[in-house]
Amino acid sequence: MKKILYSILGLAAILLVIGFVVTTFFPEKLVPFMLNQQLQRQMALVEKNNEILEDQESIRVYTVGTASPMPGERVQTGTGVIVNGHFFMFDVGDGVVQKAENMGLPLNRLDGIFITHWHSDHMMDLPSLISRSWLLGRTKDLHLYGPDGTDTLNQAINQFLHIENRHRLDHHGHETMDISKARAIAHEFKNVQGGKEVIYQQDGITITAFDVDHSPIEPAVGYAIEYNGKKVVISGDTKKNDLVLEMAENADLLLHEVILNSLLKQMEPRLKQFGMTRNRKIVHDIQDYHTPPSEVAEIASKANVKKLVLHHFAPPPDFRVVKNLYQKELSGYDGEIHFSNDGDVFVIE
Ligand SMILES: [Zn+2]
Ligand SMILES: [Zn+2]
Repeated sequence: MKKILYSILGLAAILLVIGFVVTTFFPEKLVPFMLNQQLQRQMALVEKNNEILEDQESIRVYTVGTASPMPGERVQTGTGVIVNGHFFMFDVGDGVVQKAENMGLPLNRLDGIFITHWHSDHMMDLPSLISRSWLLGRTKDLHLYGPDGTDTLNQAINQFLHIENRHRLDHHGHETMDISKARAIAHEFKNVQGGKEVIYQQDGITITAFDVDHSPIEPAVGYAIEYNGKKVVISGDTKKNDLVLEMAENADLLLHEVILNSLLKQMEPRLKQFGMTRNRKIVHDIQDYHTPPSEVAEIASKANVKKLVLHHFAPPPDFRVVKNLYQKELSGYDGEIHFSNDGDVFVIE
């Protein structure tokens, strides 16, 4: 028995030495193998994404970025939705585009972006998403939906990307870089204030924008995505809101923001004590325009939501103590609760 063990260890040691020698002194010998592996992985990913896009039954929700602006490891808010051949992004905060690409999401097949409001943690990666999806080979038009400000922002992004787009066109030519697809087509909706408006209806998919209360920030909306008798609702940034409750009625999945005011209240005097008066002021100000866990649970319960997914955490629940504080305040809702992480996927079948 011992003999066999020694032989295996000896063989493993020899292989390790050979591996070290080849990768260090003859890396060129490994290039064909490495490239084949990479390309095979890419092809497998394309095939997988084709299958997902051909699925005519489900709605897939990808929590690409789950952070609020509070510091932490997570990237800021951004949610992917794939439904009946369409790929949409809802909000694109800082870091979302790179994370989405690393997750293997088909950015070159993106055809819609929906923005909830113009806080940076929801839109800072917007130029990057428009540009990157084009560079990766997007051939379809890209539509940008949002409340007041959408037209202005889109024009500013066009100006911002103008020189970059010219460089790509001049270098690679029109056939490779069709510049007509380098821009997003803006659809600014006007009639949501105090109510709701269907802003997208195609291939059996209905997307409704609805007014939320992120006061003093206006406009601010949430979105409901309906398809094949299924419903996903994204709260956007809001304090407890009756329209979220109404839209989330019997939803299969409610993606709701959350803030742990009970912890932030204790943070305030300590920040003051440490002389961090600017941070104290911000931590104080943000507490009245988000929703604490007990109220999120109340909405999910009253609306009879099947699955509650939390995101846009303030602060992130990455320490056991913080997560348990959230958990304790979430009582009262009996359905499934998920603390989403960057890169999670939820399939509504
Ligand atoms: Zn936010
Ligand atoms: Zn906000």
